[in-house]
This record gives sequence, C-alpha cells and structure tokens, in this order.
Amino acid sequence: MRSHPFLLCAILALFEVACQKPAPSVAPLEPIRERPKWLKDGIVMVGNWEPLIFRERRGGQAVDERKLWEVEHSEQTVMKLKALGVNLIIPSLHKGFGLRAEAEDIAATRRLAEFAHKHGMRVGGYIGATMAYETFFSEEPRARDWIKVNEFGRPMYYNSEQTFRYLACRNNPGYMEFLKKVMRLGVKDLGLDLIHFDQMEMWSEPRSCRCEYCKRAFRAFLRANYSDPQLTARFGFARLDSMAPPPFNAVSGAIGMEELVNPLMQEWARFRTASVTRHYAEFDHYIHSLNPEVALEGNPNLNFSQNLGWRNGVDYGTLLAHGDIVWSEEPNFAEWTADGRLVSKIRSFKAVRSMGKSLFLYTGPGYTQPQSPSHLLLAEAMAYNDMNLGDVGAVNADGTTLTPEARDYIDFFHRHKRELVNTTEVADAAVLHSFASVEFNPAVSLVSKTLAEQVLIQSRIPFAMIFDRHLDQLDKYKVLILADQDALSDAQCSRIRAFVAAGGGLVATGTSSMLTEWRLHRSKFGLADVFGISEPLAADAPAKPIRSQYGKGRVVYIPRIEPSIEPPDPAMTYTFPNVYWTLPRNHRDLAEAVGWAAGVDLSVRVEAPEFVTIELAEQKATGTWLLHLVNYNPPRPQANIRARVRPPAGFAIKQAKLASPDGNVEQTLALTAASDGTAAFTIPKLKVYGLVLLTLEKR
Ligand SMILES: [Zn+2]
Repeated sequence: MRSHPFLLCAILALFEVACQKPAPSVAPLEPIRERPKWLKDGIVMVGNWEPLIFRERRGGQAVDERKLWEVEHSEQTVMKLKALGVNLIIPSLHKGFGLRAEAEDIAATRRLAEFAHKHGMRVGGYIGATMAYETFFSEEPRARDWIKVNEFGRPMYYNSEQTFRYLACRNNPGYMEFLKKVMRLGVKDLGLDLIHFDQMEMWSEPRSCRCEYCKRAFRAFLRANYSDPQLTARFGFARLDSMAPPPFNAVSGAIGMEELVNPLMQEWARFRTASVTRHYAEFDHYIHSLNPEVALEGNPNLNFSQNLGWRNGVDYGTLLAHGDIVWSEEPNFAEWTADGRLVSKIRSFKAVRSMGKSLFLYTGPGYTQPQSPSHLLLAEAMAYNDMNLGDVGAVNADGTTLTPEARDYIDFFHRHKRELVNTTEVADAAVLHSFASVEFNPAVSLVSKTLAEQVLIQSRIPFAMIFDRHLDQLDKYKVLILADQDALSDAQCSRIRAFVAAGGGLVATGTSSMLTEWRLHRSKFGLADVFGISEPLAADAPAKPIRSQYGKGRVVYIPRIEPSIEPPDPAMTYTFPNVYWTLPRNHRDLAEAVGWAAGVDLSVRVEAPEFVTIELAEQKATGTWLLHLVNYNPPRPQANIRARVRPPAGFAIKQAKLASPDGNVEQTLALTAASDGTAAFTIPKLKVYGLVLLTLEKR
C-alpha cells in the first residue's frame, strides 16, 4: 500500500510535538584548535555564490544570465583567475530551494571544484539560512516545522521583496540535521575545501524566532545558568514555566528604549548570542569530523559601528572562538574624507585577530568609490588581516577588472607570504569591549569606545581590541583602556585591579565600572580604589585627566570623552556611523594618558600626518617585527617618515628592510641605535603601503 506523503508528515509532526524532545542545548562547545593548514598559504578570493535558480526566481537578472553563469563555472575562468593570483573560489552549495531543485547548480559547483583543484586552487561552498518554500517544502515536507515564527506564530520572510524565502530556525533539530546533509554533500561528495554559512546571526527584534524549540531552549538556558536563589535575585522569583521570550511588538518597541535594564530582555539577548555561537560551533565540529582540512567561514556581518550583540545576536568574544574566517560587509571603506575623518575597517580586523581568525571583505575595484581605490583596500588587508586579502572580484572577472595597482599588490602578497605568515599583533594598549556595556547601553559605551579607538588609530599607538574573555590575559599589554565601559562584574573588577597592582597601566573614562554586569547601580565605581575617585564628576566639571598610582601601576581617569560632533540620540538599536568618527575634542589628553600609563615608552613611534596608520606584528619563529604603514590619503604621498622602535627588553634591532608594492621597492634602511635599545630609521617614501621588516637580536 502506498502511504500518502502529506498524511505521513502530519503524523510525524504530531508525534514530534507530542513526544516533546528535549530542548536543543545552547551550552558552549569546546573550540577546535587544530585548523586547516592550507589557510596559512594566504587567501585571495573571489565569490559568486548566487545559484542560477535564485537569480531567476529573484528577478531583475541580465537577459543572458544563463550564459554569464556558464562562463563563471568554466575552466577558462578558473585559469584566468589563477593568472591573477586568485587561489580560492566560493560558488553556491545550497541556497535554500532544495537539493533536487538546485541540482543543476550543484553540478556546476562540482565541475568548478574539479577545474579549480586541477589548477591547484581551493573551492568553498555557500550555504544559505532561508527556505525557498515553493520548491523546498515539496522535497522536505517536514521543513514546514523548521520555519522561524514571530510572537504570533507567523512565519518571517527574508525581506519585503523576497517573500519566497522563509527564515529557517537553527534551534530546530530537524533543520540542523538537514544542514548536516548539505555539509556532507559539500565535504565528502564535492570535495570542497571550505564551507560558508551566510547569516551567522539573528534578525533584529522583533524578527527573532519564537518557535517552540526557541522557547523551550530559552527556559533551559536560564535553568542551566542560574540556581533558584540566583533566579530570584535576577527576576524576583524562580519559576520559569511561564517565562517566554520578550515581545518587541509594543508601539514603543525595542527602538524606544535607550538602555536595556529589563533582566528578561537582557537574558533573551544573551540567549540569542549563545544560540548563534552554538550553531557555528556545531558546524565546526561536524565539518572537522568529516575532514579536518576543510575550513569553516561565516557571515555575522561584523560591524563595530553597531551594537551587534543586542541587534543580531553576535557576541564576537564567543562566536569567533570557532571557525576560521568571518565576513564584514560594513560600509567603512578605507578613506581620508574631505572633512578630515579616517574611515577604516581596522576595528573589524583587530577584533578578528584578537580571536585568532581572519576577515573576508570586499577589496575588489567593483565595490568601491574612487576615493577608496582597490589597492588601498588591499593595503589595509595586508597590514591588518591575517594572510587574507579578501574578495577581489567576481568569478567572471576577465582580468581587466583588476587595476594595475591591485595586481601589483596581489603579486606583492604572494611574494612576501613567508614574511607575513604566522604573525601576532604587538599591542601596547588593549581596548575592552564589555558586552553588558556596549550591547545594552550603546549610546554611551559604544560611542566612547569607538572614539577612543579612533584616537589610538590616528595617534599610531599599537593596540588590540579585546573582549570580556580576554581579561585574564591582560599581562600581554602595557595599558588597559576602559572607555565608558559602565557594566563590569565584581570578578572583572578584581582582574583589572590585580593587573594594575602588578604594574599594568589603566586609562578609564566616564562611567566605567559604575554598574554590575546585570546593570545594577553601585553606590560608587567598582574600581573606585583604583581610580582614586568614587563617582563620575558632574557633567559641567572640566574633563581634566586625573593621574594616580595604584600598587605598581599608573592610572589615568578622564571624566569624559568629548565628541566633536553630537552623537545620535540614545536608542537600543544603535548605529554610530563613520560620519561621527572625527577625533574627540580631548583626543590629545587620551593619547597622552595612554603614553603615561604605559610607564615605559611605546613599542613604536612614527611621525606622520593623522591619515597615516601603523600596525605592528611579530613573527616569533624568525625573531622579526613587521611594521606596516598605510596612507589612507593616496593623493598625498609622504616622504621621510621618521620612526623609532623599542624592542622588548634584552633585544636590539639588527636590521631594517623596507618593502612596498608601490614602485616595487625593496631596500635596507639605515639604523641609528641608541644605548637604551631603541633604534631610529627613516622611511624615504610612502605612497600607500609600506612594510618594514625589523630583525631582532639578543643584546
Ligand atoms: Zn526557533
């Protein structure tokens, strides 16, 4: 007897609800330390991941779209890309129409992978996060149960135009099982070298899933994190059976709030981040089990001008413990603007580096405006990324789309891989991104942190961006900076106190440490003893820095960072775009405070205009320091830039060599060594990018 597929599926769906499988866990998974070795070869990528079926269903494509799609997947294109120095291509693996519906696209990816491997290149595969239900549901009848639903149980669409795409819930075990099938196809069958997951994030409220799995997982998350007495302290009571995700459909909505104090809303935001991190970690573990040489890459849409932890469930400090590469599609293309702002993606690069990963971003000529030429974007990636120049163009690039300068930069990258590989940042200062501060009070904590970073970038102070998890590794830095990081736990305050007592420097501004991690108000700063004052000064008091000593460490408290442009009004869904990134009025106080708190001189001082930035890195295996210089204002090339470097105690600089793709420079620089171990040299010319290789030797 033939069973009716729909009847069967209805019975299965009923069964699934009836047996109430345990809630999916969002508990952290251990990161996989052993990463694919090929990533160290350096990456120059092109991607064109939209399958033909999607281009047609979306509409608005070219008349000859099929022809273009065929060219993209041809051997001829692969060979052209190889000649340009491209070594990784990312086509589609599964967009969301179903594996049978996308069979033609999957076959094209299979052919492309064969061509690429034949020519010594790597291939990734794109996996989407939505379900194109018009075809998908007939292939996967149970997928009707995988939809993300709102508070009222209604499905949510990708956007208002692409309503043929339902959002799929990764907290749904059925959808996660399906994704494993797709990963297996990519890794085992097609032999891909990398798997890409788009939308490695949540949609903004109120478009967060409230399906049965999410609701049960949320309650389990609360139960796992808190004992009954802790729950009572958190909510006033300990029973969870009626606790539900907070609705944000009220008229004022999330947007109407200026700061998040509601404990359930805070926990819901943390649950969302725990979910995203957990899904990414599960992908990582599964791919690793299939083939440890296959890389994982995701698109959480990194953007440090937004409070992405609250908005989209992206907690950099946990998410980036997993996988290999993440995307940023932020609009901050490298530029020195006419009104004197330095626009960069340095924050994203630095955050990703602190977590030991690298960044994908658009560096090809097709993506940007004249004031952000492709080679400037490549210079930025060369200086700040880890062996990864990002996406330099489309798969159908015929070679003429890359500018001559961009080609020179890609050649330079391949020629200098040995010098660029296996390096770590040398950072004198660390800027803390405290989750409970930045994500829940962005108009204060995100604004001050962004401006402090801007000061460090334009003052050429080597710094790292760190997250809550890094507070137990502070001894790597000379100075910690708390830029209005208002919400710090007692344990975090203790770690900071111990760091300063042992000789670490601290620069703190405004309201730092006035609140706990639950945003409960302390009667005085959590770090009052360290700051030497007990509470923030009055808003009209002068912002004069207050220097003091705590234990063996130096401390500077600055009453506030003074924006030179009034920031946007407070709101929970916050953006602090680069039009506000002018240096704060008291930027000199901040830069001097960092220098003083360090106790000793900084590792490097470079005398240059404020549109020239530096990055200092170390290649431990060869005892080499790498000083990268980037001129964000290419129409103003610089000459005779003076630099002084202070190597670690017990070392001296033996040799300095300058290399640059601008005019193919390779030259040894004259060194003037001082008795204190520092060495000075002059960089004769800087058009856009320069790399000084400094050989260290024991004194
Ligand atoms: Zn859900």
